[in-house]
Amino acid sequence: MKIVVCIRQGLDGEINPFDACAYEEALKIGGEITLLSMGPLTARDFLLRLTRLGAKKAILLSDKAFAGADTLATAYTLALAIEKLKPDYIFCGRQTLVGDTAQTGPMLSVYAKTNIITNVMGVLAANESEITCKTRDYGEITATVPALLTVERINNLRLPSIRSKMGEVEVWTAKDINADLNRTGLTGSPTRVLETKENLSGRRRCKYITADELSTVISESLKKSTEKVVENTTDGEKLKKVFCVGQAPLEYAKAVCENPTVISLDTVDKMAEFIKNEKPDAVIWGSDSLSKQISAQVAAMLNLGLCADCTSLQTDGQILYMVRPALAGSVVAKIKSITTPAMATVRTTQNDMANILVAAGFGVKENLDKVKTFAESIGADLVTTRKMVDNDFFPYEKQVGLTGKTVAPSVYIALGVAGVVHHIVGMQRAGTVIAINPDKDAPIFDYADYGIIANFEDIKF
Ligand SMILES: Cc1cc2nc3c(=O)[nH]c(=O)nc-3n(C[C@H](O)[C@H](O)[C@H](O)COP(=O)(O)OP(=O)(O)OC[C@H]3O[C@@H](n4cnc5c(N)ncnc54)[C@H](O)[C@@H]3O)c2cc1C
Repeated sequence: MKIVVCIRQGLDGEINPFDACAYEEALKIGGEITLLSMGPLTARDFLLRLTRLGAKKAILLSDKAFAGADTLATAYTLALAIEKLKPDYIFCGRQTLVGDTAQTGPMLSVYAKTNIITNVMGVLAANESEITCKTRDYGEITATVPALLTVERINNLRLPSIRSKMGEVEVWTAKDINADLNRTGLTGSPTRVLETKENLSGRRRCKYITADELSTVISESLKKSTEKVVENTTDGEKLKKVFCVGQAPLEYAKAVCENPTVISLDTVDKMAEFIKNEKPDAVIWGSDSLSKQISAQVAAMLNLGLCADCTSLQTDGQILYMVRPALAGSVVAKIKSITTPAMATVRTTQNDMANILVAAGFGVKENLDKVKTFAESIGADLVTTRKMVDNDFFPYEKQVGLTGKTVAPSVYIALGVAGVVHHIVGMQRAGTVIAINPDKDAPIFDYADYGIIANFEDIKF
């Protein structure tokens, strides 16, 4: 079995965590592994170190012409290398932490003409002809070769053994892969960042209450409206013809078009054909895993720009401005696409959970029985932080945040949650946020409507 693992070096110099999981999954099933990365020449040593874990070879795609690539240009460039390497399987991480779009994998599957399985939670079986995986949202899926997988953050990359040998790193330039320079780097990238600024969204004015007031605050909050509405900053002219894929993103589509047309999600080929023929100004997609996969595949088929996980859309009647968090949510970027229709996935929320959620953070790890009793008593589902998942207190499916789920219940009660931006981006659309934490300076209080400064275990329910 020939496996190519796509790897990106993060801003911290380390391997992107999702790619680390993809590499580990490839190492587990064995075969001839080649690492593939696009980046500056300085990434050569980084790749060389990674070959010690088992890959015989690494290919570094490095050329000035590749710089500034968005997901479409990246997928195009990687696909040219894949064409030369001819693997049975391509393993990618679900997303990078720099862009966190989850688009490159599905786009690459189109350019490299492979089958695809997204959101892989584990490879169950693989041979020269087919692969079966457990997926996050759709159970077990089997795909025949060639197939591309996008892997969730499900394992820990092994350490090299003392005696392990380094493989080799080959550097390939644009010439080596016969790249069309109009389709690589910034030139080949249809999405353009217009501005970035500090992300202040989600901040609330916290009213501190006593533990005795908690149950009243919960029941009052449940009576209020559900999720925070999308910012609609478009007062002037709007776009004429906008397609909205499913009902979930409708609120966003209405922000930029008086009468958006709701269309249903269909196969990639049918959606691409329909959009090509109908020529809308914009297509707005939801952020469930299927919409994210199909939107990225359609974008690759039609060579269109696609902006992921937008938190607000704006227009001047001509251009769709897409606003999204970037760099782990610390900044927001305003982006436009130079191709038409402009396409965006928007941050919609999980609808399969209770209207009230209790988030158990690391501060309540020793009192989980009490947390569960409390959640049950108010009819809440339990969710958690990544630190709890990393320490095996909860499965990954329960994780809220940048690398987990986005939720928008009427009431979100954060117990022992610090409130780091990575967690906040997943819950900031909740109707009312209540936080319990003994540290009065914990950031969670900046994002809460109500706060109780106390140890959770000292509170009587
Ligand atoms: C690239 C990247 C992606 C990430 N993605 C995510 C993500 O998707 N989701 C996510 O959640 N995190 C994510 N993280 C991790 C994130 O940065 C934080 O490390 C994590 O959210 C912290 O979890 P925590 O709040 O449970 O734990 P801690 O940071 O340990 O905070 C525990 C809190 O509990 C309080 N506490 C202590 N004792 C008590 C008590 N007795 N009662 C009540 N409170 C108490 C403390 O004061 C503290 O505020 C990511 C990090 C990175 C680098």
